[in-house]
Amino acid sequence: MMVTGSLGATWISFACCLCFVITYSSRNVCCSLAANTGKEYTEQDRQYWIENAKAKVTEKVKYVNKRGVAKNIIMFLGDGMSLTTLTASRIYKGQMEKRSGENEYLSFEKFPFVGMSKTYCVDKQVADSACTATAYLTGVKANYETIGVSASVKLNDCPGSVAPGNRTQSIADWSMAAGKAVGLVTTTRVTHASPAGAYAHTAHRNWESDADLAKAANLTDVTQCEDIAKQLITRSPGIDIKVILGGGRHKFFLNDTDKKGSRRDMDLVEFWKKDKAERFGNDKSAYVENREQLLNVDPSKTDYLLGLFESKHMKYHLKANATIQPTLAEMTRKAIEILKKEENGFFLFVEGGLIDSAHHETVARLALDETVEFSKAVQQAVDMTSEDDTLIVVTSDHSHTMTMAGYPVRGNDILSLSGSRGIDELPYTTLSYANGPAKTNDPANTNDPQPNVNCARQDLSKVDTSQLSFAYPHMVTMKDYETHGGDDVMVFARGPWAHLFSGNYEQNLIPLTMGFAAGIGPAARVVGGSAAFTSAGLGTAAVSSPLAVLTGALLTTLVVRCVCS
Ligand SMILES: [Zn+2]
Repeated sequence: MMVTGSLGATWISFACCLCFVITYSSRNVCCSLAANTGKEYTEQDRQYWIENAKAKVTEKVKYVNKRGVAKNIIMFLGDGMSLTTLTASRIYKGQMEKRSGENEYLSFEKFPFVGMSKTYCVDKQVADSACTATAYLTGVKANYETIGVSASVKLNDCPGSVAPGNRTQSIADWSMAAGKAVGLVTTTRVTHASPAGAYAHTAHRNWESDADLAKAANLTDVTQCEDIAKQLITRSPGIDIKVILGGGRHKFFLNDTDKKGSRRDMDLVEFWKKDKAERFGNDKSAYVENREQLLNVDPSKTDYLLGLFESKHMKYHLKANATIQPTLAEMTRKAIEILKKEENGFFLFVEGGLIDSAHHETVARLALDETVEFSKAVQQAVDMTSEDDTLIVVTSDHSHTMTMAGYPVRGNDILSLSGSRGIDELPYTTLSYANGPAKTNDPANTNDPQPNVNCARQDLSKVDTSQLSFAYPHMVTMKDYETHGGDDVMVFARGPWAHLFSGNYEQNLIPLTMGFAAGIGPAARVVGGSAAFTSAGLGTAAVSSPLAVLTGALLTTLVVRCVCS
């Protein structure tokens, strides 16, 4: 059982004891710092906060905005990683290392530029991961649960989704057109909505295999449509993606006793192996299913890598067998090692997909831990690339309903009770959800399908709220899962043109801005861009050709005329 108050108090005193001997310059996580005069301050001194802020201002003044060309782009997507998730996760991270936690940073929170993205879909105020993937990977806002198609395509409209004019092009397409290598890494099925935004076009995110499509045939005409897994393995751009790592074998293998897949038509892994061997030779590709096999892949000899580590989603980091399942950071590392061989650069998409899954179950500890794992993967990419030629963007697709309530004391265990009580005299956890699934944390009441419908709150004073599967309290009980939230999400950026990610904007701006930075996609030749690039010393590969400049000038004229008329 967790004794919240005493544990919190212990952390505070531990942190403050440390702080009297550790200075700001050596460790930016404590409550004392040394000024230029050599005098040391603690958080109780007003000068501590002044010196703290002065150090940050000094750091910002010294920073020079980077321009030039982003040869490489790495996009990190924390699925469902709301602002509250970031705050709680940084505290969790610090407390796992026996510090107070509030003044910690996740790796990407140290990036020089931060903006906010508006996540709504064309037809929904609160988004899902499909319409948002279409926005942040193809630059076009779409309808709820549709991927890679414009909002002309309604949910389940298969005929509409195959019309070329309704299909969107992704930053994976733009990258390949510029000769860049492309990779996808996720902790979910590789056919799940977020990664699918890079390569698929579908009127329903659930059409991941031909078996899924067959089920949908009872509801709508799907005769012209192809499932998401098949698009990934057999169609452009998926067939040319060099690194694909994640879960979801079930959607690739045949429904037989051997491989226990779900497909009826073909074994897509066998297709992938054969295709890569025929096009690139027998020794240029590898298919792996566990951590050891992944770590043994020699990136100098391997150009194409497919890793499917689970039948469904990968397991939560805290519940996985660490010797069998690779971490997100390990997958990210291998992907970059392979992709960075491409002299034209690369685009890599990395998703921490289980943050969202954990929130849907209101198991906040797992959501926070997955966020910390995501932060480690970002740090891995930072360590392997240069800020001068690699743009790293870290964001989320949508929010969740988790809140962080008052008023726990400083250093209070983020996973536990807040220290206050409600009008019913019962304590409450710092973290809770606006809605959540119909299940209970009461061991004596595990079969109660709807424990909260009588509106009586559970007494959590004797419950270990830090256990891995503890479902945090919610107000509205849902049949299945907690819902997404509609609030904006953060965007963190580092590298060439990272400053363009400041401000508040629509989510679909993100890929076009990444493309602008790399000289690819629809915004590559945006007005002012060519001049800015050339004056900043753009590499020859991405300098506008005279024809492109002329075309841009003509387009500009046309646009101006249209506006004037
Ligand atoms: Zn979700």
